[in-house]
Amino acid sequence: MVASEVRALFAVASRPEIVSLAGGMPNVDALPLETLGELMAELTRERGGTALQYGSAQGDPGLRESVCGVMSLEGIDAHPDDVVVTVGSQQALDLIARVFLDPGDTVVAEGPTYVTALGVFAACQARVAQVAMDEEGVDPGALAETFGRLAAEGRPAKLFYTVPTFQNPAGVTLSAERRAAVLEVCRRAGVLVVEDNPYGLLHYDQGEPMRALRADDPAGVVYLGSFSKTLAPGLRVGWALAPSAVRDKLVLAAESAMLSHSVFSQLVVDRYLRTQPWAEQLKEFREMYRERRDAMLGALAAHMPRGVRWTSPGGGFFVWASLPEGLDSKAMLPRAVGARVAYVPGTGFYADGGGRSHLRLSFCYPPTERIEEGVQRLASVIGEELTLRDTLGLSPGAER
Ligand code: PMP
Repeated sequence: MVASEVRALFAVASRPEIVSLAGGMPNVDALPLETLGELMAELTRERGGTALQYGSAQGDPGLRESVCGVMSLEGIDAHPDDVVVTVGSQQALDLIARVFLDPGDTVVAEGPTYVTALGVFAACQARVAQVAMDEEGVDPGALAETFGRLAAEGRPAKLFYTVPTFQNPAGVTLSAERRAAVLEVCRRAGVLVVEDNPYGLLHYDQGEPMRALRADDPAGVVYLGSFSKTLAPGLRVGWALAPSAVRDKLVLAAESAMLSHSVFSQLVVDRYLRTQPWAEQLKEFREMYRERRDAMLGALAAHMPRGVRWTSPGGGFFVWASLPEGLDSKAMLPRAVGARVAYVPGTGFYADGGGRSHLRLSFCYPPTERIEEGVQRLASVIGEELTLRDTLGLSPGAER
C-alpha cells in the first residue's frame, strides 16, 4: 500500500493562501445545518436506545427501503433485501475486492480511473488493465478487445470497474448508446460490472438523471451508491445493490470488517430522507455546482494558453485537462503550488504511471471567484512552462 497522490497533496492544498482545485470535497456548508442538528437531537431522544446500539451488518431495513426510492430516480427497480449498507461507497468497493479478487487477478477499469479504487485493487494485489475513454466514456469495442487480450493471456478479467456518469477524474459520461453495448460486451465476456455512481444525481445540463447501467442488467451489475455528495460525506453512508449471491458474501465481508455500521448515521440519513425536502436540497446543490462548473469552464476558455484541452462535464465535480506536448503535470506541481494553486497530476489515476500530460481540476469546493483566480494562476504557470519548453528547445519537433 502506498499513499495516494491526492492524500499526499491535502496537507499543502489546504493552506488558506492556496486555491485548491485538487480535492473533491463537497460543499457541506450549503446544508441546512440547524435542521440537521435538530433532527439528530430528536433521533437521540426518541430512538437513542436503537440509534446508539450495534446494528446488523446488512444495514438498517428502513434506510435500505429509502435507498431503493433514491435509486428509482435512475431507473433502478430494486428490493431492500438486495441492498447492503456500507461505510461510504468506498467500503463497498473494498468489500467487493475482498470477495472477488485474489492476488494476481485482473480488474479492468477506465483510464483514467478513481484513485482510491486503484488503492483498493493494489491492496488486494490485483492487476489493473485500463481502457481509454473519449468524450462519450469508454469505447465498447476497445473494452471487448481488452477482455479478449486478457483471456488470451490466461488472465481473464474478473471485474469491470466503471464510473459511467460524471466520471472521477475525467468528468465524462458514458453515452446512452454505448451503455447497452458495454453491458453486452461484459455479458458476453462473463465479466461482472461494478458501477460506481456517487455523482449521478448531480446533473447540471439535463432535467433527468442518466439511466443507471444496473437498471438494464440486474444480474450483471453491482451498483454502488453514496450519500457523500448528495448529503454529507462525514456521515459515511453508502451502499451496494447486488445480485443475491453476491449480496450474501458482501454481508459476511462487512461483518468481519466492522461488525456493525454506525446505526446512528444510518438513522440520520433515513430520517432526513423521510422528513426533509431532500429533492429540493439536491436541486440547490445542482444549481450551486453548476455555477461553479460554469465558472471553471469560462475561466479555462478565457485564460488557458493554446494547446491545453479539457473536458466539459455535464455533472459531478471534475474537469480533466490535457497539457501541450512536452509538459509534465507532476513536475509542474511544485511551481503551481508556488503560484498558490493546486491540482492533482494525472499520474494518480493510472496504475502504470501514465497520465503525466493530464491533470484533474475540481470545481466543487472553492467559490466561483476563487475558482477563476485559481484557473488564472494555473494558466500563468502553464504559460511559463511553455516558454521554458520553447526556450530550451524541448518543443516537439524542435530537434528537427
Ligand atoms: N467512488 C468515487 C468515484 C468517488 O469519487 C468517491 C469519493 N471521492 C467514492 C467512490 C467514495 O465515496 P464515499 O466513500 O464517500 O461514498
